[in-house]
Amino acid sequence: MPIDPTAPYDDDNIFAKILRGEIPNTTVIETEHSLAFHDITPQAPTHVLVIPKGAYVSFDHFASEAGEAEIIDYVRTIGQVAQMCGVDLGEGGGFRLISNAGRDGVQEVPHLHVHVLGGRGLGRMLQPA
Ligand code: 5GP
Repeated sequence: MPIDPTAPYDDDNIFAKILRGEIPNTTVIETEHSLAFHDITPQAPTHVLVIPKGAYVSFDHFASEAGEAEIIDYVRTIGQVAQMCGVDLGEGGGFRLISNAGRDGVQEVPHLHVHVLGGRGLGRMLQPA
């Protein structure tokens, strides 16, 4: 079910549990402010989720509330993940970043995450409605 965009941050969401070490993950990289790990149901050969360690529900929440150090760390970590997975434009065939937010974005986990997808041709961005 998509999340309720008006709800406060839920400390029991699955990514909060991953950050607390209550649920295992396959880490790609961990930094001071961010964690990247493989999606449990990969949709492409590369499918990594990058999350901030702070309690942010969505990209807009993060953009308005996070500190500069968190934002810089997060953006750089996403770039590093693309490099580490070999999909960056220096080495690989490219990638797509997706961050679903709220009802229309069909966000399922209410903790900000960017999907890093690549390793095959990904087709058009959206299917016709
Ligand atoms: P959303 O639809 O919110 O953008 O994406 C949530 C993503 O989290 C999905 O791609 C789903 O496969 C992934 N996911 C859900 N639960 C877990 C989990 O326990 N571990 C990992 N690694 N990924 C998860």
